[in-house]
Amino acid sequence: KPSNTQNHKDSSHYLKDFLGEMKADKIREHLRKFTQLPHLAGTEQNLKYAEQIMKEWQMFGLDSVEMVPYDVLLSYPNESQPNYISIVDHLGNEIFNTSLAEPVPQGYEDISNIVPPYSAFSAKGQPEGDLVYVNYGRTEDFSQLQRVMGINVTGKIVIVRYGKIFRGNKVKNAVLAGAKGIIMFSDPADYWADGIQPYPDGWNLPGRGAQRGNVLNLNGAGDPLTPGYPAKEYTYRFSPEDGVGLPNIPVHPIGFHDAILLLNNMGGEIPPNNWKGALNVSYRIGPGFTDDFKSQKVRMNIHTNNQVTRIYNVIGKIRGAQEPDRYVILGGHRDAWVFGGIDPMSGAAVVHETVRSAGRLLSTGWRPRRTIIFASWDAEEFGLLGSTEWAEDNARLLQERAVAYINADSAIEGENVVYGFICMWADLNYHRSNPEEGEEGVSLYESWHKRDNWTNDRDAPRISKLGSGSDFEAYFIRLGIASGRARYTKNAKTERYSSYPVYHSVYETFEIVEKFYDPSFKRLQAVAQVRGALIFLLADSQLLPLDVNEYADSLRKYAQSIAQLAQKNLRAMVMYKVSFDSLFSAVENFTVAARDFHERLQTLNKADPLQLRIMNDQLMYLERAFIDPLGLPGRPFYRHVIFAPSSHNKYAGESFPGIYDALFDIENSADPAKAWEEVKRQISIAAFTVHAAAMTLTPPA
Ligand code: GLU
Ligand code: CA
Ligand code: ZN
Ligand code: ZN
Repeated sequence: KPSNTQNHKDSSHYLKDFLGEMKADKIREHLRKFTQLPHLAGTEQNLKYAEQIMKEWQMFGLDSVEMVPYDVLLSYPNESQPNYISIVDHLGNEIFNTSLAEPVPQGYEDISNIVPPYSAFSAKGQPEGDLVYVNYGRTEDFSQLQRVMGINVTGKIVIVRYGKIFRGNKVKNAVLAGAKGIIMFSDPADYWADGIQPYPDGWNLPGRGAQRGNVLNLNGAGDPLTPGYPAKEYTYRFSPEDGVGLPNIPVHPIGFHDAILLLNNMGGEIPPNNWKGALNVSYRIGPGFTDDFKSQKVRMNIHTNNQVTRIYNVIGKIRGAQEPDRYVILGGHRDAWVFGGIDPMSGAAVVHETVRSAGRLLSTGWRPRRTIIFASWDAEEFGLLGSTEWAEDNARLLQERAVAYINADSAIEGENVVYGFICMWADLNYHRSNPEEGEEGVSLYESWHKRDNWTNDRDAPRISKLGSGSDFEAYFIRLGIASGRARYTKNAKTERYSSYPVYHSVYETFEIVEKFYDPSFKRLQAVAQVRGALIFLLADSQLLPLDVNEYADSLRKYAQSIAQLAQKNLRAMVMYKVSFDSLFSAVENFTVAARDFHERLQTLNKADPLQLRIMNDQLMYLERAFIDPLGLPGRPFYRHVIFAPSSHNKYAGESFPGIYDALFDIENSADPAKAWEEVKRQISIAAFTVHAAAMTLTPPA
């Protein structure tokens, strides 16, 4: 595949050395070291790891390393009043209580500060009432419950299974439906693989394991009390009641052992088949228990506190030799729910090894063309807080100077992966050795291709849209910086967004990686090399390795698919004179501008630094051109007109999100004329933005 990544001869030699220096054994050591103790955001241990990382990055030879603190709203269980859920009899006596903690794995019995499973930022309270089961708690699940089955959950406690979407969206849906509490459980249908033992004998989630996690709906705001501005000491803070995205009902997670007891005696309708999980219960919807148990109620006891707490990012830099004012960022979080064996330390260990290798290269005389920034983010688990506050703090610099952001969360398993505006995957992966047994001769690229082909229209490995749920969000969707992520995933088609069984539990240990996920540490090594090569090529190529034609192709695909979605309401479209012509014409402009731009690149005199810089700036600023300063409707920090996290699932990416949301459920709109006006407005915003972006690719004069 032709590419514009070729560079002066030395650079490719350095790249080879850079990747060759990354060692599986070293990554193993880093992971071992940083998963010894629990290191939740805001705790002393997480500060200690930050200090250790800072010290080691200095030793590895970075030009500068600093600790950057912020004071943000976090949330912890009350240590003297545990959270749990009860079944109470007609006298109000607790006849069943859910467990207060997960059984701690062998070897970790003496470790303190393991936070019990909880939903961070839950409201406090002790609501009591009947249960209603709402499948995954998705938008479509609630509309089926309410519109098809005619069940009202006002004043009820909703119980939903984990999986398919970000848990914060489940909570939002429950609040909108009028529930006074929500319980989330891990069903074996979603968190148990057939033929695999529960941890420690295998990688399945034990019955008493549960998934921690924040339940915010921040829509990109960062710290709930300081939206738009860095949470420094002097910063003005909203009062805690006015915080962005906080749920106003109690929320609590449980494992399937406890879920069985809550679901067991439920009455009401038999659910549709696809609402049935894998537990030996009927999955009846409720409300409440069957006749014999009718007088029993469910009571939640939640005492979790929100608390402004200091967090610490570690920021390390390598000064660029020729273009020091151009930044390439590799960032990933350090804070973990407990040990963080997979999430996030498999990613943090990879970053650590990347920094070590970069330090070695510096000592041999290399210096990248552009500046490289390494970041160890804090408080990702509490809503991407560390990365977002730093983005707010540095927004003016970043919008002028950032070339790209590469994210480094968990390196193995987890959600579906990789998006590319950054199109050098093919080039890159052909040279990576493949760690899979029996595939030694096959390039990483080929085995990726084989496992996950794009679709019918294209014979290439799939690169999916970026959604959110990790630290690239503020960089990509708020600031418009080209971004990417890469990791090992499994079975992308069936397992999307449900993550891996022990996700956010105490069973995410070093040992689960060593025994089951990557015994040789060669997968982590391959991820280090892929992420490292991305950073290297972005920072050291003369011409930025960004492909504008790929963007044009994607835009066309997205425009076609959103227009097709609208066609479902053909009659209304005719009636209200809704047309996508302006958008298609803008995409056409973009396609032509991209093609011409690419042609001019072929004849570029790379010996002329000004000509090079002019073209590179056009490449760098293209992603910025998709930012609308006014943001999407009701989501001022989601400003990218082409991509946003889905309004129904933060983990998923939506293309042309403004149009998509305006069209959503429009056939049931109370005021169709007004709803279609909004569709027209969104189409015009999209058309203008694509056209404006196309103009940035045309010759400057
Ligand atoms: N990655 C974390 C989670 O999935 C945080 C995501 C977020 O707050 O966006 O729970
Ligand atoms: Ca802030
Ligand atoms: Zn996580
Ligand atoms: Zn993570």
